[in-house]
Amino acid sequence: MNIEIDNNSGFCFGVVKAIETAESELKKNKTLYCLGDIVHNDAEVKRLENKGLITISHEEFRKLKNTKILLRAHGEPPETYEIAKKNNIELIDASCPIVLNLQKKIDKAYIDFSSVHGQIIIFGKEGHAEVIGLLGHTENKGIVISNEKDLKKIDFSKPINIFSQTTKSRSSYHIIIEKIKERMIRETGNDEINFIINDSTCRAVSNRDIFLKDFAKKHNIIIFVSGKKSSNGKVLYEVCRKQNKRSYFVSETYELKKEWFKKEDSVGICGATSTPTWLMQKMKSAIKNINL
Ligand code: SF4
Repeated sequence: MNIEIDNNSGFCFGVVKAIETAESELKKNKTLYCLGDIVHNDAEVKRLENKGLITISHEEFRKLKNTKILLRAHGEPPETYEIAKKNNIELIDASCPIVLNLQKKIDKAYIDFSSVHGQIIIFGKEGHAEVIGLLGHTENKGIVISNEKDLKKIDFSKPINIFSQTTKSRSSYHIIIEKIKERMIRETGNDEINFIINDSTCRAVSNRDIFLKDFAKKHNIIIFVSGKKSSNGKVLYEVCRKQNKRSYFVSETYELKKEWFKKEDSVGICGATSTPTWLMQKMKSAIKNINL
């Protein structure tokens, strides 16, 4: 079998920065708390936990005092910073600069839109860490939509300012924007209502799907490596699946199945922005060792 690892897959710079920050802190101290999974990949979390990283929940965070805590790339709502200040917690902020920039834009939009009774819409996954952080910048008054059904949450007679979670696909964002425009006209007969569209998908993700399409077409079989919790992983896997019916989503080597492969296959290994390169290499070795 010919096996190729996609050069464009693997950690985005936001995740690289968060992991480098954690590793450099762990060189100075034996342990370090991290608020939530540092990356949506269990294998990488386990590797860092073996070095001393301790993942804590937001509930546990509220009870801690006088310590140091790492904030991961997804970003946090303002409340997290307030709690840290109150409890004398030093924050090592590894929030991705792109997410921080988006939070600032939402902050400003929320203030501007309050005076016109407008709505801040976030196209993203309800409950996702980044979305929770973004919502915090609207005092949790923003409206999260993830599909067409959620459009019922919107009052189409009022101004709308829409942002997307950074990891959503650009095509799905454009589709939902068009649906909003249609509903606006249908329900109000007016297409002149203030509708501000912000292009907030991350290029580290949106550009990858273009490369990934070609990569998925180039091989007979695609092994897509990602943590099950990764939103970006789900999006990129769908890109592969649309191009190549023999695409499989795996998180660990033991999930590989012998019957997927044929001797003459050309195998492509790729992954999400949260997939470590070492894990894709481990998959490659495991596939090589399959006795066909
Ligand atoms: S996907 Fe983009 S926004 Fe999200 S952490 Fe990576 S670089 Fe930052």
